[in-house]
Amino acid sequence: ALRSQDVHGCRFFTASMDERARARRGIESALRQALPRGQLSLHYQPRIAASSGQIVGAEALLRWHVRGRELYKPDQFIPVAEDTGLILPIGTWVLRQACRQARAWQQQGHRIPVSVNVSPVQFQHVDFPDWLDDALAGSGLDPGLLELELTERMMMSGGDVTGSLLQRIRQRGVRLSLDDFGTGYCSLSYLKHFPIDTLKIDRVFVRDVIGDADTATITSAIIAMAQRLDKLVVAEGVETEAQAAFLRQAGCAELQGFLFAAALPVDDFEKLLTEPARAT
Ligand code: C2E
Ligand code: MG
Ligand code: MG
Ligand code: MG
Repeated sequence: ALRSQDVHGCRFFTASMDERARARRGIESALRQALPRGQLSLHYQPRIAASSGQIVGAEALLRWHVRGRELYKPDQFIPVAEDTGLILPIGTWVLRQACRQARAWQQQGHRIPVSVNVSPVQFQHVDFPDWLDDALAGSGLDPGLLELELTERMMMSGGDVTGSLLQRIRQRGVRLSLDDFGTGYCSLSYLKHFPIDTLKIDRVFVRDVIGDADTATITSAIIAMAQRLDKLVVAEGVETEAQAAFLRQAGCAELQGFLFAAALPVDDFEKLLTEPARAT
């Protein structure tokens, strides 16, 4: 039931706020146990070369399963993990696990760079460079096979500190990518100031490239700009052949989306790796 209440002229819906707070507490207490109980795993979504259709990378995406069923989606539990600090142990585990997996693929003869999403809370922690080193050293992975996906949200908050940290990470040979590009703010100045290798065009653009002329123009312009700046461009959320054709024509180097595959458990991802490239 929704009850409204006036506080200093603002209207609050107390019932729904209580419900939301209760839901978050439920996620929080379950999340504290998730890692020790082995409920978290990484799934991998392929990145496809637009020109050849071959798998040229994988994004590690966190999944939370309890007795074979997905409990919550990342968009539900990652914000709670960030607010509670649980993202620190979870994020460190993700980084290690992804590096170990990429190393295992390398040993099986597949050079598959792995991209890992990094939360601002993790990245801004003073120990982050050590965690990164530990993950690389512990796995023996070539740092060039690791890419960190950062968001504009993170670039906004840090200023000079962020710039020098990004430089340090890049000097180790780790690649940096700007995720959800175009949905944040002031994106263009980040491109000028920060050493980013890859731009990932957010799926809100990809979704409308066929139906909406303005979106098509903006998307083509982002791709052209990225090319001139010598950045690799990846489109996220590619679901149809028409979208893929548009992006390929516009010069987008890599495509990621349900048209090719969703994020898959390791076994299923490995089956894709051994199949011949699909003709598109
Ligand atoms: P993201 O990094 O932008 O990841 C892309 C999201 O889009 C993933 O959702 C992916 O499953 C989904 N996706 C991929 N292709 C398509 C498509 O063709 N259509 C549609 N509709 N969706 C597609 P997911 O796995 O639910 O993750 C959501 C977000 O949660 C991620 O967005 C990322 O911000 C965050 N996340 C996931 N794993 C981690 C992690 O290990 N650490 C951190 N810090 N954040 C993570
Ligand atoms: Mg991502
Ligand atoms: Mg994204
Ligand atoms: Mg996202």
